[in-house]
Amino acid sequence: MPYPLLRSAGLALLALAMAGTGFVLLQTLRRPPLEPYRNLVLPAAAKDAPLRVRFAGVSTLLFDDGETAWITDGFFSRPGKAATLLTRIAPDPAAVERGLQRLGVTRLAAVVPLHSHYDHAMDAPLVAQRSGALLVGGASTLNVGRGLGLAEAQMREVRAGDTIELGRFKLRFLASRHSPTPWSDGVTPETLDAPLTPPARASAWREGDVWSLLVEHAWGRRFLVQGSAGFVPGALAGRRVDTVFLGVGTLGRKTEDYRDAYWTETVRAVGARRVIAVHWDDFWLPLDAPLQAMPLLLDDFATTMADLQERGARDGIEVRLPPLFTPFVP
Ligand SMILES: [Zn+2]
Repeated sequence: MPYPLLRSAGLALLALAMAGTGFVLLQTLRRPPLEPYRNLVLPAAAKDAPLRVRFAGVSTLLFDDGETAWITDGFFSRPGKAATLLTRIAPDPAAVERGLQRLGVTRLAAVVPLHSHYDHAMDAPLVAQRSGALLVGGASTLNVGRGLGLAEAQMREVRAGDTIELGRFKLRFLASRHSPTPWSDGVTPETLDAPLTPPARASAWREGDVWSLLVEHAWGRRFLVQGSAGFVPGALAGRRVDTVFLGVGTLGRKTEDYRDAYWTETVRAVGARRVIAVHWDDFWLPLDAPLQAMPLLLDDFATTMADLQERGARDGIEVRLPPLFTPFVP
């Protein structure tokens, strides 16, 4: 090949590589705006509302009936993108403290990670230590507790089908699946078989059991908390709930068929009248600023919301978003 041709081929390749890198960088910065969905955010609960929920990003939800309070996940540290990708991460006690303060938490009956990935389970042992809560989860989640020195007496292992009672709340743990992602297929079990002591790579918080959490309150309200956008076909058939807290992470990058199956197997299967979307915020950003949607490189919140709203309108199911930290009626 004559030298000038080789040189122009090389230059073309270099330009292509630069354009590719530029695109990836741009997509890590670009994200759909939340402004178009402002009217979907649930209003603050009245002071005397008997049963209230607060949201703290990802799928951290505080349930409170005035007598008993408990929380899913309890994830507040939210280490930055670079730290998460390039370094070993650990819970940030100050961020956990601030998060619990903003939720108005003094005492909690339980902290219940929906699976053991770091954005669900990493801070849970600190939440338990700070609030007196019982850490409730599968064997992998308990190894997250042990790694941070949580006493066995402050942990309770659950298996698929188990029910626990917390005051007037009844929590039933049903086996579910993680949303298939490039780093976990949602089907192969990934367990944490030994205590995990941070700092560690983000990938060290292996999936563990993935729960569909059915919540029943004695005053007649029923909820489903689905932390990850996966499902076991038929697993929720015959269950009835009013409201689904629907994990929508990665849904914007799934096929139409997948979104249809997820909606059918979770929302429609339980006859819900309302969906509150969770796990859509960029959890590499701290909770001190307003939440933002995941960058377009990883998900597409606008596609997710258009899809949910269309399905909701078709099936007569209200689709809403939770306010950050403000108590709302679920
Ligand atoms: Zn996960």
